[in-house]
Amino acid sequence: MTEIGHYIDNARVAGTSGRSQPVFNPAIGQSEKSVALASVEEVNAAVASANAAWSNWASTPALRRARILDRFKMILWERADQLAEVISSEHGKTHDDALGEVTRGLEVVEFAVGAPNLLKGEITENVGTNVDSHSLRQPLGVVAGITPFNFPCMVPMWMFPVALACGNTFVLKPSERDPSASLLIAEWLTEAGLPEGVFNVVQGDKLAVDTLLEHPDVKAISFVGSTPIAKYIYETGTKNGKRVQALGGAKNHMVILPDADLDMAANALMGAAYGSAGERCMAISVAVPVTDKVADALVEKLVPKIEALKVGPAADRASDMGPVVTKAAQEKILGYIDKGEAEGAKVVVDGRGFKAPQGYEDGYFVGPTLIDDVTPDMTIWKEEIFGPVLSIVRRNSYADAVDLVHAHEYANGVAIFTRDGDAARNFGHEIEVGMVGINVPIPVPMAFHSFGGWKQSLFGDHHMHGPEGIRFYTRLKTITTRWPTGVRSDPEFVMPTMG
Ligand code: NAD
Repeated sequence: MTEIGHYIDNARVAGTSGRSQPVFNPAIGQSEKSVALASVEEVNAAVASANAAWSNWASTPALRRARILDRFKMILWERADQLAEVISSEHGKTHDDALGEVTRGLEVVEFAVGAPNLLKGEITENVGTNVDSHSLRQPLGVVAGITPFNFPCMVPMWMFPVALACGNTFVLKPSERDPSASLLIAEWLTEAGLPEGVFNVVQGDKLAVDTLLEHPDVKAISFVGSTPIAKYIYETGTKNGKRVQALGGAKNHMVILPDADLDMAANALMGAAYGSAGERCMAISVAVPVTDKVADALVEKLVPKIEALKVGPAADRASDMGPVVTKAAQEKILGYIDKGEAEGAKVVVDGRGFKAPQGYEDGYFVGPTLIDDVTPDMTIWKEEIFGPVLSIVRRNSYADAVDLVHAHEYANGVAIFTRDGDAARNFGHEIEVGMVGINVPIPVPMAFHSFGGWKQSLFGDHHMHGPEGIRFYTRLKTITTRWPTGVRSDPEFVMPTMG
């Protein structure tokens, strides 16, 4: 059995802690590899390597840093298939889904290649007589990223391309469930010319995370994962004096008004609810048709589409949807369907009895599921299921639909489907959610905008990538300058009068 280790000083390093855990192939339900779980000493070694590399990297001209990222981008373009295959083998998502995440990650690298422009400062001439001021943004030092299983390539790439472009060095702690993508990324960065120690990877669990959270040389933490852990990371990191952005869980609603194009809405729901087996923080997990008439018509359109979905392994390129990530995830999702039914909801399409294709009987498959008549007092509305389960909560008016969205503790993404410009504009203005789609089911901001939710979906002040990413990974300095000028005479002493 191969063990997936760390990446320190531009080389793969085997784990020495004596601790490891299996990594499963979710399509067959078998463990073919294991991942090393770092000790405190191994995490310290990665941080020490990043710290030693920092001052040279920070003083490397932004243009040269950007050229390395540009070469990395070209490698990614050429080898996207290879990376996608590795992702699918540990995550379970289809090849197209995996390729999609590589592309979205790559777009952040493209954004970061603009570093020389993005890091331009501001200057004001003559803030006082013959006095000029300029402000600039400088890197923080060693920064760390702690990432979830559901996007083993894209989520790290929300972070490190921007961090590196700004002149920071980086330590990545990927999810222990699908760790291999991180090592390919690290090797390709080395191949692109990244100096030793600028990007390190430590595999691990809570021990590695806690070591990063407490390490005095780690200046900032970027986290993406579930809400309880995001809250813990934010509280512990800030208590230790670090800058922290911690993105958490989600429950994303799609409001469908009576004037919506229902075919468009039903098609959009298929991808948004069942793509990547619902294991997306921007998946739509609740459809909110306004009026029973719209709800009945929507269900009628959805059922045949759901029943026609091809569920299977990524190895079959015709699969629309793969398995979920682990046996525990499979059991949890099936448990939610049971609970929804027990609490009085109507299971319209039932994924519980799903029969996997031959050879994949032990895979962690859950059939796509549709549950109608869900109400806000039910567990399946309150909690994040993170699987291929779409709930329908029927509402009677636009205002009731908005109240429903606002009643949820999460506020990552939301969508409205309508032809009414007035309603759409109102919704965009008043809805208290970080990312809003108008006739767009998954409104993930492009790399040059910033990604992040509100309420319990984000702890911290900065969203990821785009302009917010640049601000997060730099600190502002303002320099005020006066030169002796004009006719030389003895400088006059003036008592300062302003703070
Ligand atoms: P998770 O919270 O279990 O794990 C995320 C990271 O935290 C992993 O690296 C893991 O090793 C680490 N971790 C886990 N338990 C820890 C603990 N007790 N102490 C310290 N570190 C710990 O999340 P996951 O299951 O890998 O990912 C799915 C979750 O991530 C979902 O809730 C999903 O909504 C969320 N997510 C959110 C976004 C977003 O942008 N808001 C994006 C992707 C995923």
